[in-house]
Amino acid sequence: MTMAKIGATAKGGCNRQALTNVDKKGRDLFVSDCKAIGCEILIDEIGNIFARREGTNPELPAVITGSHLDTQPTGGKFDGVFGVLAGLEVLRVLEDNNIQTTHPIEVVAWTNEEGSRFSPACMGSGVWNGCFSLDEIYKTRDRDGLSVSHELTKIGYKGSLPATPRPIKAAFEVHIEQGPILEKSNKQIGIVTGIQGLRWYELSLTGIPCHAGPTPMEDRQDPVQAMIPILQTCFDLARENGPWGRATIGDITTHPGSPNTVPESIKILIDLRHPNAEVVERMDSILRNSIKEICATKNVDYSIKENWRMEVTTFDDLCIDAVRQSAEELNYSNMDIVSGAGHDSLYVAEKAPTSMIFVPCENGLSHNEAENAKPEDLAAGANVLLKAILKVSS
Ligand SMILES: [Zn+2]
Repeated sequence: MTMAKIGATAKGGCNRQALTNVDKKGRDLFVSDCKAIGCEILIDEIGNIFARREGTNPELPAVITGSHLDTQPTGGKFDGVFGVLAGLEVLRVLEDNNIQTTHPIEVVAWTNEEGSRFSPACMGSGVWNGCFSLDEIYKTRDRDGLSVSHELTKIGYKGSLPATPRPIKAAFEVHIEQGPILEKSNKQIGIVTGIQGLRWYELSLTGIPCHAGPTPMEDRQDPVQAMIPILQTCFDLARENGPWGRATIGDITTHPGSPNTVPESIKILIDLRHPNAEVVERMDSILRNSIKEICATKNVDYSIKENWRMEVTTFDDLCIDAVRQSAEELNYSNMDIVSGAGHDSLYVAEKAPTSMIFVPCENGLSHNEAENAKPEDLAAGANVLLKAILKVSS
């Protein structure tokens, strides 16, 4: 709640976008809290902060945990922040109880997970992972033309540690679910087994524009008539591959967009998701084949472009087991769940054994100023995190 005051909005949420002055204040608070319990602070070239509590054998790879402190422009108090502060709380508990772990533990705050001021999202973990080039990312600008490099320097978080993975024993991230499944299922802990794969398509359908009155229906090459069965195919794919299949049509633009003209063209944005890589592949080929058939039948031309993809992430079995055993030992109701949203753990998982822990959030709301979570659920998530860390770090 102290962190939530930094960048607090009138509607009870947070606006603490990456590399702003409020992001700096949030980072400063985290750093001073970590220093207060004797952590060493390491800051890398993209501004990721690592708070390190030494193990009895400092040569061993660290166990890492964390998330992000930045928010959406109209974000909530918990998305990301909970994962960072739960990590800090784990370190405090170890400190208060004089518990020494064999492996070092590091709590990380990744830079710019949200991607709302500077694109892409998961910038800090993506650079660290090697997916994004540091030089390219430094040049990325916000709407006002300010660069990542400039803003990182300005807030004092352009560190000297190379933004590249050091040896890691295991990684955990605790996060609010950002969806309604745990709440609906009346479960306190989600054992996250992976992150859904995603494909973004930009589909263009092109027909022949003509007058809405004089042109008989059978004489038209109308892209709207092709669009309808194509959209139905998308939603059928999601339903047939339930309960995890997802189809979203985020935007439809017609050209020229006149009430009495059959459109010449339509641009449609399609988002398909599923946690199983084979199913994503199958959804992709069914969609492409049916677009081809439908457009041939309706006498409409088309082009389809894949704008972005996120491969399916399957988390590490031992990390998943550590979370499951911890939830069981603590007697928290739990269920396996797949993340529908991307997280820093997606990039971490490519470099280290990783898994995530979810806790319910009210009405499944996130990226919303009304985002809320119960203190007892947050405590449960932090307790599972503590136990899971102890299992792999002692
Ligand atoms: Zn988040």
